[in-house]
Amino acid sequence: MSKIPMTTPLVEMDGDEMTRILWKMIKEELILPYVDLKTEYYDLGLENRDKTADQVTIDSAEATKKYGVAVKCATITPNVQRMSEYNLHEMWKSPNGTIRAILDGTVFRTPITVSLIHPAVRSWEKPITIARHAYGDVYKNTEIRTKEGGTAELVFTSDSGEVTRQVIQKLDGPGVFQGMHNKESSIRSFAHSCFQYALDTRQSLWFGTKDTISKIYDGAFKEIMADVFEEYKDRFEEAGIEYFYTLIDDAVARVIRSKGGFIWACKNYDGDVMSDMVSTAFGSLAMMTSVLVSPDGVYEYEAAHGTVTRHYYRYLKGEKTSTNPVATIFAWTGALRKRGEMDGILELQEFADKLEKACLDTIESGVMTKDLALLADPDTVPIQTVDSEDFLKAIRERLEA
Ligand code: NAP
Ligand code: MG
Repeated sequence: MSKIPMTTPLVEMDGDEMTRILWKMIKEELILPYVDLKTEYYDLGLENRDKTADQVTIDSAEATKKYGVAVKCATITPNVQRMSEYNLHEMWKSPNGTIRAILDGTVFRTPITVSLIHPAVRSWEKPITIARHAYGDVYKNTEIRTKEGGTAELVFTSDSGEVTRQVIQKLDGPGVFQGMHNKESSIRSFAHSCFQYALDTRQSLWFGTKDTISKIYDGAFKEIMADVFEEYKDRFEEAGIEYFYTLIDDAVARVIRSKGGFIWACKNYDGDVMSDMVSTAFGSLAMMTSVLVSPDGVYEYEAAHGTVTRHYYRYLKGEKTSTNPVATIFAWTGALRKRGEMDGILELQEFADKLEKACLDTIESGVMTKDLALLADPDTVPIQTVDSEDFLKAIRERLEA
């Protein structure tokens, strides 16, 4: 059988620990036998990031801009303990943060659903994708806690020297204060990424803020989204999808009552909190995909989970682990499909569909990793818990058949 050809390389970002082990297994078992794989390889493993003073992360992001599609393995974000574990020269920043800053993108997270695992919310029939605006607000704030009373003011000095001053609050005792900001350009990028992704996936887009209370700050988000939507209105109509704005609390209530099958755009904090709720309610972090979409149409695919350190330490002791590779496989299929779309290679798109179906069918047949076995409904089929290697073999058998 001849392998599926590729014309443009994928940017391949290798990573750390258990996911690095899975990465190699997935490629060897499920991709290389079928695809004449072209990648430009960047080793984002912590050792190589340290060796290159993190230049490799920047290079991989620049390559993604050049080629348009990347697939990324989970990576360690170093902390104090990792400094000694890996003998690091510096506590390097989160690679995802660095890549996001260079690509200026929005992260979309979607649960992979299977019928054996019932969402905690009974009405949900289709996945809900969370689009989190990942710049500013409380994540880039300044805070003050005072020991006595006094007056806090918000002062803005414009580049031309004009000063705007407002009293935040006059307190007669100790208190806390917080100053945060956002950039109009970042909100605009977010809007473009969201509308573009909604069109790509043919799903409606919901957005909510608290603009009744925060008339200027949240009001700006509402206004800019509506303004950018004007550019997409006709294409939305053609695709039969809608842009729906409502207050954030109303959005939360409607999400719970909904059947799913839409994209929920969230401000930074809402996205942080709600993505954990949505992923847990759908089942497991090990079944969550994540894609970074830049406003100029560059895509970086990954799994939403981390490097699964606890499993890796067991692996190092020679134990076989039952680590779930599905989200990492879907990162590969997402990237291959997008490459296929961009280069007009239908076979590559079909291969991505087949591989995803083989994963889901394997699980539906009752063969799965331990994390899923704990969640699956045992009433329909007998559940067989397997290690990662046997799970990948079972997927391969389905793919061959
Ligand atoms: P994690 O790697 O996601 O793992 C947390 C726990 O979730 C695991 O111990 C495991 O539970 C379960 N889990 C996650 N993925 C799984 C999978 N595929 N199959 C089965 N179980 C899975 O998060 P973490 O332990 O907080 O972080 C570990 C490292 O990953 C850190 O160094 C962090 O910096 C990094 N990280 C990277 C990314 C990224 O690159 N995008 C994201 C998050 C974290 P049990 O042990 O109970 O089985
Ligand atoms: Mg969170």
